[in-house]
Amino acid sequence: MTAYRYSGIPSAIAMEARRTLRSPQYGHPAYREVAGGYGPCRLCLRTFAVGREDRLLFTYQPFMEPGSLPAPGPVFVHAESCARYDALEFPPELRDLPIVVEGFRAGGSLAVQQRVNGGPPEEVIATVFAMPDIAYAHLRNGEAGCFMARVDRCFACD
Ligand SMILES: [Zn+2]
Repeated sequence: MTAYRYSGIPSAIAMEARRTLRSPQYGHPAYREVAGGYGPCRLCLRTFAVGREDRLLFTYQPFMEPGSLPAPGPVFVHAESCARYDALEFPPELRDLPIVVEGFRAGGSLAVQQRVNGGPPEEVIATVFAMPDIAYAHLRNGEAGCFMARVDRCFACD
């Protein structure tokens, strides 16, 4: 069975946004506020304690390949330090959120978009990766549409 690796945004980007209070990729001002929603934090992939944790909102662009069409959008991270999620287990705190899995070909073109409808997200992820030419996937919020996390096949894990 194929293993999948789930990861938050690069630590360097979150740390630079916290340090400069700007979007590292775009230069737009970042906005700090008390969490008014669950988020999640795109670095540790945990949901926010609403009304109790501070978070930082900034513009993030998740596509890294040269030639791919950028898709900048708003993301939140904890305003204070937290640890990047990078594990073979589906992020536990995302399990109950509305999720759309998007499968991309190498180069960043969208191949498939599939909504998790109450079942295990792992099943939808396996279905998406079983399609031809899928290089990686993104998890997006199925209501707000924002990028939440990246999923890769873990070849060294089989
Ligand atoms: Zn966090």
